[in-house]
Amino acid sequence: MRLIFLGSPGAGKGTLAAKAVAILKLPHISTGAIFRAAIAAGNPLGLRVKVVIDEGQLVDDETTVALVRARLAQPDAQKGYILDGFPRTIPQAEALEDFSAVDKVVNFDIPDSTVLERLSGRQICRKCGINYHVIFNKPKKEGICDTCGGAIYIRNDDREAAIIERLEVYREQTAPLIEFYRKKGLLVDVDAQPSVDEVVENFKKAVGICSGMIDRIK
Ligand code: AMP
Repeated sequence: MRLIFLGSPGAGKGTLAAKAVAILKLPHISTGAIFRAAIAAGNPLGLRVKVVIDEGQLVDDETTVALVRARLAQPDAQKGYILDGFPRTIPQAEALEDFSAVDKVVNFDIPDSTVLERLSGRQICRKCGINYHVIFNKPKKEGICDTCGGAIYIRNDDREAAIIERLEVYREQTAPLIEFYRKKGLLVDVDAQPSVDEVVENFKKAVGICSGMIDRIK
């Protein structure tokens, strides 16, 4: 199954993708995570994209599409994937059509007020990338990831000015993808406001996942 996770920053795509991956046993391909890893490694890609990302802007389409094209050509992506954070522009979506079909696009829907509340307290594990929140989802031990023991930090692009910029960029460049995919009959909407467990259940219903299907995917 080839799935795209769409939704504004803070809709919970990363958290939900981690849950969906555990259910569907598909690779979770997050362009944001790939860029963050490149920045942490200090490699040429990381050096090139760091400023753009810290400012809440989008990395150029050419770089991003080339990266996803190469990633989807890997053996583990041949049985399907969950694409989280890609495409983010119409040109990226059009480019994707040249190298992969898509089965469903899940639009995680959330109001702006909730987005601000979530993002302004978000923290992330430096080692495994799991998300936490200073109020809603604290780690058991402050500053330490429950899952892998890695250090927890606040992303540069989760600071207020960058959050506002990212929401603006989302509205202008990414939100048009909702209609793009709706017209193609691929879009399913999932309300991303309730608890993570409820959203996961709604996601399973929306994409038609039942236990028999999970067995087949395994
Ligand atoms: P995310 O982890 O998905 O919130 O992505 C973090 C940042 O990485 C974004 O704000 C962008 O700067 C960059 N980024 C991630 N995915 C893309 C994409 N598909 N196109 C352009 N930039 C991206």
